[in-house]
Amino acid sequence: MLTPECIVSTVCPFCGVGCNLELHVRDGFIYKVTSPFDAVVNHGNLCVKGRFGYDFIYNPQRITVPLIRKTPQRPGERTQAFDLSEWREASWDEALDYVADRLVEIYRKDGSHAMAVYCCAKATNEDNYLLQKMYRALFRTNNVDHCTRLCHAASVVALQMAIGSAAMSNTAAEVIENDVFILTGSNPTENHPIIALQMKAAVRKYGAKLIVVDPRRIEMVDYATLYLPIKPGTDVPVFSAMAHVILKEGLYNRQFIAERTENFEAFAASMEKFTPEYAENISGVDRDLIIEAARLYATAKNAAIYWALGIPESSHGVANALSLINLALLTGHIGRRGTGLNPLRGQNNVQGASDSGAMPWHYPGYQRVDVEDNARRWEQAWNIEPGGLSRELGLTTTEILSSVGPGGVRALYIMGENPMMSEPNLNHTRKKMQELEFLVAQDLFINESGAFADVFLPAASWAEKEGTFTNTDRRVQRVRQVIPPRGQSRPDWEIICDLAKRIEKRLGRPQTAYWDYRHPSEVLEEMGRYVPEYAGVTYERLEREGGLQTPVWDRQHPGTPFLFADTFPRGRGKFYPLDYTPNAEMPDEDYPFVLSTGRVLEHWHGGTLTRHSWLDDLFPEPLVDIHPGDAAHLGIQDGDAVRVTSRRGSIVLRAHVTPKTNPGVVFIPFHFREAAANLLTHDILDPQAKIPEYKAAVVRVTKA
Ligand code: SF4
Repeated sequence: MLTPECIVSTVCPFCGVGCNLELHVRDGFIYKVTSPFDAVVNHGNLCVKGRFGYDFIYNPQRITVPLIRKTPQRPGERTQAFDLSEWREASWDEALDYVADRLVEIYRKDGSHAMAVYCCAKATNEDNYLLQKMYRALFRTNNVDHCTRLCHAASVVALQMAIGSAAMSNTAAEVIENDVFILTGSNPTENHPIIALQMKAAVRKYGAKLIVVDPRRIEMVDYATLYLPIKPGTDVPVFSAMAHVILKEGLYNRQFIAERTENFEAFAASMEKFTPEYAENISGVDRDLIIEAARLYATAKNAAIYWALGIPESSHGVANALSLINLALLTGHIGRRGTGLNPLRGQNNVQGASDSGAMPWHYPGYQRVDVEDNARRWEQAWNIEPGGLSRELGLTTTEILSSVGPGGVRALYIMGENPMMSEPNLNHTRKKMQELEFLVAQDLFINESGAFADVFLPAASWAEKEGTFTNTDRRVQRVRQVIPPRGQSRPDWEIICDLAKRIEKRLGRPQTAYWDYRHPSEVLEEMGRYVPEYAGVTYERLEREGGLQTPVWDRQHPGTPFLFADTFPRGRGKFYPLDYTPNAEMPDEDYPFVLSTGRVLEHWHGGTLTRHSWLDDLFPEPLVDIHPGDAAHLGIQDGDAVRVTSRRGSIVLRAHVTPKTNPGVVFIPFHFREAAANLLTHDILDPQAKIPEYKAAVVRVTKA
């Protein structure tokens, strides 16, 4: 048996559960990953990604030297270059000087509206804080966003409207303290596997009752007391019908409503029409199931709601999320242990990237950019002249690409994201990427987006740098360097600081903001000085105490496992009246199926990491899940090649005939370039959250 030279504790780089890992290193090589049984988050359990998915670090296709495209790329003629022969190696000085020259040239020519950046939910809090700081402080733009726009943006908007805070209200592990919990639009077995284990324990060991509301017959249905097989996009009628029953039967919490909420009457009046019969007609869910679910949730001592992207990824995602929030306010199942509103975050650091200001409408700490006091505070923080920071709301990721062209965004900087796989309606995205005047990619591999770039900056992996991640239940944890960066790759935070100084010099702004950090701990300290929720989070405390759950108001504050014990950040929780809005596309004769997209256990998002890992051997090709009844009707057998076509594109892949998906619904994971699911999805957005409707494009399926 190998004896480890050292074992380093860190955090999993994949999902928002934030499992604690031990990386075993010998001769500078990570050869094994384990997890300690006393790990706070995961108690020694890991899923296949955390346990075995780290080998992308050593993949020979990884880029470890700066690259510049040999042929200059022109707007409209930009091409993808996956082949290294189309690039030449450069020194860091040459690559960063070139990036600084071109960005400043475009900024001078076209102004701050031409500049935009994608931050990264896989990168650390410190990386994200610095990248948004560079764009805001130097290019004076709020065109700063990251993939939260594509996942929980509608949950964030709804939660901020109703209670004033967008994070999970409670700790994931509190699920074992629920008497009843609703799981909707979420498949934790594949997407949050360790939370799925805790949910199963809550049911089987601690006696909790589970209500699953989902258009797919996910594995958690096997553990459910009630399963409501909802049609995609009919969340508002179903959850509002539950509210209707709770109101009619007097099961609501009068004291909580009187003391802690507002707008109850208007909300209650709007629920009149949502009878269980009305909801059944729209959603296909039996009215008696809706009534039973309402009674079970409302009469529980402690009940909670957990949701993932099936709720927000909709053209009416904000209303979907509000229908859940209304239920919690109606019953008072919030503000106590074992209750709550819990949007499960996907990426390892999507919560932290949002906290760190990688958002177009907010500085770090969710401070609105259009509020004068906030702008002044950050001008002081970054040594910027009064009025220097933009007060204009920035563009979201979806808007950044749409705006590319004359008068819109001209230069884009992408750190660790892959819009050419993750944006909806990829044919449109491709056209927009081609029209960019200048594109920088900072990543580990040349992925589908980086292949369009002018310059590729090789970043260190999570195991090669220091920092912090904030997981789905607001736990800030240390990411530790385990091995040196491969080749010439560098930590993101170092690359950004080096580049920022070059840009600052070219702009002739002597020492605007501070960029001379010696360690990421200094970055977190700076953020904590201006973000009250992080005021008490220091590297020293994280080393001593392990993770800290925000808000951590000062250096003595122990952190906050559950929120809203006494009040909501906006004061009273606000009920919102709701109406039913159908999906932007509805099935018809030509396109009779509803396509839902998502992830599988073995892969991660656009596949940049997991398709460069041996995990790809476990799930090597794209599949479309189709119900046995639908498959029989179309003459399709399991494993047949089929063509799936929407109004925007067409892909060919194999059929997976399974009762896991309900009749009329097909499911395709979005990890596979060879059959990119987002060629099929549409780009109609929720008007408030600007999030696409990934869960409900209509398609037809034919034998290929
Ligand atoms: Fe990593 Fe998430 Fe799996 Fe835990 S559950 S090991 S955090 S991917």
